[in-house]
Amino acid sequence: MSDLLSSLPPTTGIDPAVIVDSHMHVGEFPLFDVRMDRPTLTATLAHYGIAAGMVFHPDNQYVREVVETVEGAWGLVWANPHKEGFLEEALELLEHPKFLGVKMHPLLDAYHPNDPRVHPLVEALIKRDMPALIHCGHPIFTLPWSIEELAVRFPEAKIILGHMGHGNVIYINGSIDVAERNPNVYLETSGMPMHTKIAEAVRRVGADRVLFGSDAPFHEIGVEVRKVQVSGLSTELVGRVLEKNARKLFFGAEDATGPVARASKR
Ligand SMILES: [Zn+2]
Repeated sequence: MSDLLSSLPPTTGIDPAVIVDSHMHVGEFPLFDVRMDRPTLTATLAHYGIAAGMVFHPDNQYVREVVETVEGAWGLVWANPHKEGFLEEALELLEHPKFLGVKMHPLLDAYHPNDPRVHPLVEALIKRDMPALIHCGHPIFTLPWSIEELAVRFPEAKIILGHMGHGNVIYINGSIDVAERNPNVYLETSGMPMHTKIAEAVRRVGADRVLFGSDAPFHEIGVEVRKVQVSGLSTELVGRVLEKNARKLFFGAEDATGPVARASKR
């Protein structure tokens, strides 16, 4: 048994719930001193009742190995326009049955979300009806208004604001504002500390565009789930945020357990 498995808490502290996690990392993160190896990912999905988890890491080939061997793990292609051949690699992996979209981290990788090099990738996502999850919440490159420039330029693209502004209430409110005025923008809850903002987001943006994410292993999944459960939303809306909205966005139908055939665009 892997050492890492002992990092799981003895109890999840959450009611039984079916969860689809839109934001999970796999691999080693020395900068943060956290990691998620394959056995731990498998155990984590079972432990917390996660039916499907979107996983990613800058090494896309490692992610391919993970999603090919871990049931319930689905991949998002890490797209960094500074990396040579990033577009070709992304286009190839988007044809893989277990990759369901892309992840972009303009803060760590240092580019503006609306960088013209990103545009052909976004066009490819639109064609496949697949979303882009973009880290949101830190200057200079990942403030919600910068990501909005990309969302406005491509109104057919499905853009998820990862962390919905993260820890700063100005950026959290800004993320909700951006989603409210752009129907193609979704909000993902990981790492955003204010449970009440989850309910406010659903109220202002609508029941379909707020998604649960844990950001594991950077955040503890039970804590992240609890935030949604105590947000003040009805049981039905909690279920939408924890499970159904992500199924609809990533799989194409809110009760789907894997990708369903998309409309003619695909
Ligand atoms: Zn993350």
